[in-house]
Amino acid sequence: MREHAAEPVLRPAEPERREAEQTPDASALSPALVSHIRAGAGNAAVARMLQPATAMLSRELDLAAIAARVHEAVDGLGTDEDAVYAALGELNHDPDATAQLSRTYLATYGETLETAIRDDFSGDELARALGLLGSTNGAAPAAGTVSPATVTEAPVHPPRQLPMDLATGEAVLSGAFGDVVSITAGSIQLLQAPEFQAAYDRIYGGGQYSWAAYVVPRYGSLNGFAHDGVNYINLASAGLHTIVHEMLHNNTAADWRGVVGSRWDEGTTEVLTKEACAKIAEPAPTCYPGESPVVDEAIAQGLPRADLREAYFNGGAQSKVADWVDANCTENWAAVKGYMEANQWAAARAGLQRKP
Ligand SMILES: [Zn+2]
Repeated sequence: MREHAAEPVLRPAEPERREAEQTPDASALSPALVSHIRAGAGNAAVARMLQPATAMLSRELDLAAIAARVHEAVDGLGTDEDAVYAALGELNHDPDATAQLSRTYLATYGETLETAIRDDFSGDELARALGLLGSTNGAAPAAGTVSPATVTEAPVHPPRQLPMDLATGEAVLSGAFGDVVSITAGSIQLLQAPEFQAAYDRIYGGGQYSWAAYVVPRYGSLNGFAHDGVNYINLASAGLHTIVHEMLHNNTAADWRGVVGSRWDEGTTEVLTKEACAKIAEPAPTCYPGESPVVDEAIAQGLPRADLREAYFNGGAQSKVADWVDANCTENWAAVKGYMEANQWAAARAGLQRKP
């Protein structure tokens, strides 16, 4: 939406993105085409055409050196896997740097980086190497790692009241829960819609879980998704509440998700998002219409909010949530969690009614 495009905090990144977008997409050039161009123009010209943004990035990363290290590690007999992991790790999951390295590699060695890796890696090692390039090797988004577009009556979201940036999200959460936990932002990328979809497809694209084949028919769009420790947020539809929601996920206790499962996790994250946003009168529409009413029901039946918060941020979900349900509700925690994981929301709410 227009108001997002005008967000001042994003301006510094825009010229770099635009420049990167004008460069040819390496994946659109077949190796045959590249060698054809090379025959006429020579490697240097191809390299110049493919990587006009290198100078901008080279202040931080020597992409030519990274490409050389990968090439040396996969060239010839045998593969030095650790050298590849170390080289690709320097990208730090930065999508711009990853795209630029792909162009540099193709321009220099005449095959795509992904092809070079697929030729030399398999199984878990392939997944690890592709993961460093941001690709899942065809796996589905894990449960709870995507945030569907906001479910609400039009308009998509009300007029913005506060800046939509990480510092504001952190401040909102610290204001609401700072007495329970020291909030950290985690790794969050705020992207305009085209870059958001491109980031999604860099990770999931090319198969049945691509944006077109999976997200559009299933969700229409996404407000955000998380992959490999990074939260990606779609500025076109997300609101400040989305940043708050994703940042909450980055502050959960180590035992939380395993005990409660992905659906209770989403429901609680939404309940806490609404609680934090309500404190400052920031709109927080419902994105999980099945999940969050179940958690609200547990609170209505007497699950102490303070215990829920404590379990979420600091740990103890087994005793504070699961054991509480076992002791107080008509069905036990295993049953309620099972209903939620099966998207049986009414059954989950019914199971949470107090024992007679
Ligand atoms: Zn979530």
